[in-house]
Amino acid sequence: MSMIAAAGPTRVTADPIGAALGELPVLVPVRPEHVPLAVRAVVVHAKQEWPAGAVCRNDRAPHPCRLARWGRRVLLAAGVFEERIHLLVAGGDPYASPWP
Ligand SMILES: [Zn+2]
Repeated sequence: MSMIAAAGPTRVTADPIGAALGELPVLVPVRPEHVPLAVRAVVVHAKQEWPAGAVCRNDRAPHPCRLARWGRRVLLAAGVFEERIHLLVAGGDPYASPWP
């Protein structure tokens, strides 16, 4: 099976899984055990650029995929700043601490 997409400038824009299943819930207040899972979600489900558009590098869904959105929402609800989330994704360590 080829990893190269078929010919045609098809853009990745729809999120059929997200449309069918909806958003994953975020429990507020955020439980401490959810924070490392959220870090793992945003790092593992990071954006990857393809000619057809940005997709999740883990599941090839349009970026941000459901788990990336959930992880980001959990981290924001836990008080992690947006800049720190970007640093976590850029660092690529799914076991990194969200706290500086
Ligand atoms: Zn994903």
